[in-house]
Amino acid sequence: MIYDAAIIGAGPAGLLCARNAARRGLRVALIDSHEEPGAKLAIAGGGKGNITNRILAENRYIGRDTGILRSALKAFSCNDALALMRELGLPWEERDFGQIFGLKPAAIMAERLAVQCDDAGVDFYLGRTASNIGVPEKDDAHGPAFGRSGPQEHFRLFAGQEKVTARQLVVAAGSSACPQLGASDQLLRLAASWGHEIIPFRPVLVPLVMPADWPLAGLEGISLNVRLGLKRGNDLRWPDPEGIRPLLFTHRGVSGPAVLVASCWWTPGEELVVDFLPELPLLELLNEKENGKLLVRNLLTRRLPARLADTLCPEDLARRKVAELGKKDRLRLAELVHRFSVLPAGTEGLRRAEAAAGGVALSSLSRRLESLHIPGMFFCGEIVDITGLLGGYNIHWAFASGAMVAKALRRD
Ligand SMILES: Cc1cc2nc3c(=O)[nH]c(=O)nc-3n(C[C@H](O)[C@H](O)[C@H](O)COP(=O)(O)OP(=O)(O)OC[C@H]3O[C@@H](n4cnc5c(N)ncnc54)[C@H](O)[C@@H]3O)c2cc1C
Repeated sequence: MIYDAAIIGAGPAGLLCARNAARRGLRVALIDSHEEPGAKLAIAGGGKGNITNRILAENRYIGRDTGILRSALKAFSCNDALALMRELGLPWEERDFGQIFGLKPAAIMAERLAVQCDDAGVDFYLGRTASNIGVPEKDDAHGPAFGRSGPQEHFRLFAGQEKVTARQLVVAAGSSACPQLGASDQLLRLAASWGHEIIPFRPVLVPLVMPADWPLAGLEGISLNVRLGLKRGNDLRWPDPEGIRPLLFTHRGVSGPAVLVASCWWTPGEELVVDFLPELPLLELLNEKENGKLLVRNLLTRRLPARLADTLCPEDLARRKVAELGKKDRLRLAELVHRFSVLPAGTEGLRRAEAAAGGVALSSLSRRLESLHIPGMFFCGEIVDITGLLGGYNIHWAFASGAMVAKALRRD
């Protein structure tokens, strides 16, 4: 049996691609190392899955070239994701920042998608790792599959012990984030060996670790709304399009939505700059007459969690009255509150990351996500160099790109 398409990876990208392609009448094989499809989808969004977002725009994604998103997000919009939820019989709710979460466990979404794949005639190869992938080529430079020599016409691979042959291959193998679920960069390295430009995976949507002796150590548990910037030398930028989000102090450093989003852009050697009062200029507060009689500490504890205010405020200023502060001290205090900078020691790594940035570069793919090097090979989902910020953007991209590839696959 020669399949029209073999799909490696039964995450949201592979599942939707398989279902839609099979509904078009293609013979589809869907292969995954896990016994259950959608292993990562099942744990997404604390188990409920933040599956899409009302505010879908290119600036909610990172990647070297995100231009493809304009057409991808038009072709598969937030309404399309909601229609998919309806079709799967799954209710949802809208939370802040336009985030759409399922109201039932995300694992049910994966199960129901798999049932729809099954109904459409998809052949599942679950609990089987794809290996020995042989690609069609003229001179067989990468070695023949199944020990054959000479040129080959089809994609050939093993799904566990079983041989699978297909006219087209879809790589929907995700990223190396969350290796405890078996995630790795194996398929990305293979993509490089087939001639594609790749950007190595790096953990994003991940907490940041601070040096043990950083001035705000010991504040774990405190959470507040902040704006985060990144600074290298004199170059300070505030990359998060949402601006203000919660930060959480942890025993190793900082986490929370603001930090997870900042980690998408943070690179080693860059300082993290925290504006602890993003909506309230401290200088204005210090200049207000009615605040003059307050102790500096008390002014700060009215606006900030007390333990944070005590740690931030220099001892020589804490017990003075606001009115007694000279210009230099006011500026020093404002700098500490609005421009607190620290050099993170690193991230908590792939094990704690919700995604990995990097992947197969768009320069190696057509506008339909087909390889420019190996005709008939497609990539979709997180393995492509497009990564969403926090808010349902990654699952949305997985669905949108999976749907895009399903349309592009050729039928004999
Ligand atoms: C803890 C956590 C929470 C998250 N929460 C959210 C959220 O709420 N919203 C959101 O948008 N995103 C979230 N994400 C990210 C999101 O889950 C992923 O971006 C998304 O699942 C990617 O979909 P995908 O189909 O591309 O890849 P995956 O879902 O990773 O699926 C890829 C599949 O390929 C299989 N595979 C890989 N190599 C092989 C091989 N050689 N042979 C056979 N099978 C193979 C893997 O087993 C895997 O099942 C979260 C991630 C984590 C880790």
